[in-house]
Amino acid sequence: MFRQTKTVLAKLQNVRLKGLHLSWRRRSTAAAAAAAAGEKAHQYTAGQQIHGFTVKEVVAVPELFLTAIKLTHDRTGAQYLHAARDDPNNLFSVQFRTTPMDSTGVPHILEHTVLCGSQKYPCRDPFFKMLNRSLCTFMNAFTASDYTMYPFSTQNAKDFQNLLSVYLDAVFFPCLREQDFWQEGWRLENEDPADASSPLVFKGVVFNEMKGAFSDNERLYAQHLQNKLYPDHTYSVVSGGEPLAIPDLTWEQLKDFHATHYHPSNARFFTYGDLPLEQHLKQIDQEALSKFERIQTNTRVPSQPPWASPREERVTCSPDAMAPDAARQSTLCVSYKLGDITDTFEAFTLSLLSALMTSGPNAPFYKALIEPKIGTDFSSVVGYDGSTKEASFSIGLQGIAECDADKVKNIIRQTVDSIIESGFEDERIEALLHKTEIQMKHQSSNFGLALASYIASSWNHDGDPVDLLQINNSIREFRRALQENPRFLQDKVQHYLKENSHRLTLSMSPDDSYLDKQVSAEERKLREKIAALSDSDKKDIYEKGLQLLAAQSKTQDASCLPTLKVSDIAPTLAVTPLHMTKAGGVPLQLCEQPTNGLVYFRAMCSLNTLPEDLKLYVPLFCSVITKMGCGSLDYRQQAQQMELKTGDMSVSPQVIPDCAHMDVFEQGVLLSSSCLERNLADMLQLWAEIFNSPRFDDPERLRVLVMMSAQELANGISDAGHIYAMTRAGHLLTPAGELLETFDGMDQVKFMKRIAEMSDLTPVLRTLPRIKKHLLNPENMRCAVNATPQGASESVLHLENFMTDVADKRKRFKAVRPNVIQRPLDVDNISGACKTLVADSNFQPCHMKTFFQLPFPVNFVSESIRTVPYSHKDYASLCVLARMMTAKFLHGEIREKGGAYGGGAKMAGGGLFSFYSYRDPNSVQTLSAFGKGVDWAKSSRFTQQDIDEAKLSIFSAVDSPVAPSSKGMSVFLSGITDEMKQRHRERLVHVTRENLLDVAERYLTLGSKTYGVSILGPENDAIKKDPSWVVK
Ligand SMILES: [Zn+2]
Repeated sequence: MFRQTKTVLAKLQNVRLKGLHLSWRRRSTAAAAAAAAGEKAHQYTAGQQIHGFTVKEVVAVPELFLTAIKLTHDRTGAQYLHAARDDPNNLFSVQFRTTPMDSTGVPHILEHTVLCGSQKYPCRDPFFKMLNRSLCTFMNAFTASDYTMYPFSTQNAKDFQNLLSVYLDAVFFPCLREQDFWQEGWRLENEDPADASSPLVFKGVVFNEMKGAFSDNERLYAQHLQNKLYPDHTYSVVSGGEPLAIPDLTWEQLKDFHATHYHPSNARFFTYGDLPLEQHLKQIDQEALSKFERIQTNTRVPSQPPWASPREERVTCSPDAMAPDAARQSTLCVSYKLGDITDTFEAFTLSLLSALMTSGPNAPFYKALIEPKIGTDFSSVVGYDGSTKEASFSIGLQGIAECDADKVKNIIRQTVDSIIESGFEDERIEALLHKTEIQMKHQSSNFGLALASYIASSWNHDGDPVDLLQINNSIREFRRALQENPRFLQDKVQHYLKENSHRLTLSMSPDDSYLDKQVSAEERKLREKIAALSDSDKKDIYEKGLQLLAAQSKTQDASCLPTLKVSDIAPTLAVTPLHMTKAGGVPLQLCEQPTNGLVYFRAMCSLNTLPEDLKLYVPLFCSVITKMGCGSLDYRQQAQQMELKTGDMSVSPQVIPDCAHMDVFEQGVLLSSSCLERNLADMLQLWAEIFNSPRFDDPERLRVLVMMSAQELANGISDAGHIYAMTRAGHLLTPAGELLETFDGMDQVKFMKRIAEMSDLTPVLRTLPRIKKHLLNPENMRCAVNATPQGASESVLHLENFMTDVADKRKRFKAVRPNVIQRPLDVDNISGACKTLVADSNFQPCHMKTFFQLPFPVNFVSESIRTVPYSHKDYASLCVLARMMTAKFLHGEIREKGGAYGGGAKMAGGGLFSFYSYRDPNSVQTLSAFGKGVDWAKSSRFTQQDIDEAKLSIFSAVDSPVAPSSKGMSVFLSGITDEMKQRHRERLVHVTRENLLDVAERYLTLGSKTYGVSILGPENDAIKKDPSWVVK
């Protein structure tokens, strides 16, 4: 489980009003049921007293189908918000205002250590253990720059009480043992803890996590920006921890910080869902709040005093080997301090304004900064950021040449002036409000969590969370303001951008010796620490290291923790009714769902006729096909139409393994889109234009899109390195794995880098239409629609027209690989429509070890093993085995002992059993930990409880809520029916110890396994000397 650090969260919140992240699920169409939950909530009245709390306010929020109830705890002053809503996926969250004044990472290390054991639950690491004793749909903890949040969600009432009890005890009564601090924070320890003569080194989970986090240049930039834009208080420090400041933190300081910050008087509780509020209040009061008295907290964040004149700063970073253009690796942004985020309407206005200025090809900053191709893309911090007490707006580029800095600054200045002069077209404002409407209607699978993050920052500074939920009020007020003053938005730009002297120009450029400097700084710090040690200190360190290792290796008794049982798992799956039909001769799957009036349209197009040499181009084709213009629309008009008429329209490459055969798979591209019912004809018209007359005539436009994609891929590696390592490790084990590496692996990253480096893109422009000919063809298509009953029936008619529209003059192509096989789309009608899969009966899996040397201070390690596909009887046993090995062995070896951020094993539908580690200080040693995991499993050192826990943990994923827009998708894409899922479910429940021993022996044992290995990481002498590795 990864715990997010502040910058990730900051990014989330960055996009939050750009993408209002508000979405939810509902159990049924029953608006009546929603009203019922609301009615129950209405029984509360202001002034009412319940279990030590007083109700302050009860407000219906019809736009989100919920009722908000605000309360205060009388004795401690703790604040509470409940959102009553007809949604079984209930959420709890408690957040504390944590405002560090140094960069030792104290709130972050505290976040980790409170989860290491508490008074009532003194076992080690109850948090991770609960993952295996619960059916939670989410469990995590976040450290933001000014608060720390602990959320979980579950659909089971008993589970909710269990988790609530563990969470309350963890945050209010943690053990905070010295040993927990060493393990999670930092410690000096012998490199080999068993060898007193091995050198002393820094270890610790957060220490390594933060080294890894700052290997991501985008995060590094975001961190510097916040520190320098608000230099006078808590935002000037790194709440997650500056790696070399972390070793200045003491255990005493950690305990102090807990006592002053994790107190009810400094806490905000949020609950969401259909469970009764009273039960929550009772439990929270009894188990925690009644044991405290009110204190005066001292965590308020003062406003940043405004600057008299603008500032300019420069920082450095490590060069990026994957950068699309090695000569252009600088980032430059201008950031403006805005108003207080607790002013809800102002914040709403400024985030809309930010989207108007920056988002999409019609936005003025996009035209002025992106299209001249001075940089590769906007910097990731661009836009409105409401994650600090006073918000900010940033604008600028990444991937620029250092000498272009002045040019960028000038353009920004000129663009601000021209926005003030000409404002925005009405149509763009309407498009944005339309987008907001769609985002409010779209239902995601964890709405409670989306709400918790949405209100967290403003509430943290005593903003009114209920105000924030009433989005319709803000929209109304916005329309009124625009009507009263047509220059409303321009005046804001004048005030906040033009006349604002609190602005920072921050540039970041690569320094070739950056990593070396970091290494020597760490060595210096280490030497200082060691120089201060006496001989007896060193002996002490050695002994403590051994004690920690012993504690980590001891079999742990978790019996103090509450748990669900395997019998609490619902025995049968709720069936999703699907209707198979045809529209214009093309197979169509209809799924009627309570979608709030949205229609989700998808189409899968086979790639079977595509020549091999074009395959590398498919991801690029997908990312540009909806962005180049079509028919009579140029790309700007196309973007405008898409914003006015649809929620989104995108295309993505697909490699879908067959559920029955390892060497069979489907290759294709998936079109995905959504719109309001009334706009379906318009949306299909747009798709038809894309099918019939896409525009591939503008090399300049293509260059912009190529640079953006290449930059995004290069930036993604440090966050998703384990995915790249797994994809590579599996790439020669199955035919599907090979294509997956081509589409999604390091091969693709390198290919896009080559394309980005080409001085002339005309050959690429000539290649893309060749792909189109093979793809957008009704003959090898199938479609799916998720909509309300009315929307679904209307969509059939629209799709008929659409198919007629695109069916003309299509050439027939023969499949390039002769080995194709047909699978019926509907298992109940095997003579009906089919899909065509590729079968490679001559495929020979190969063993390969690949090392990618990258400029990171940490590794991503993976080993993949070829096993069996989804419908095989051993598949369920392998799933349970992977989960159990992760929780009971690999987590301890790779994270606790090895110091990696994460690691484990997982079984994937394509039949590959994969081990992985994430942000790992070790490389080849971790491979041997994988091997030890297999030995551990084979030696039967696990209990029935371990098996049951693995099953529970799997079911919390298997039964996690599916949004109405995604129902039926596993049948549509993979052909996995509810019946097959039910069979898999039964197999999972019945997995025995013997099954586990058997599959570990037969599939994972050296000698009998077929496997591949891959590592992404820094220069590695051991691997370089070993000829069995392929170094890339
Ligand atoms: Zn962390």
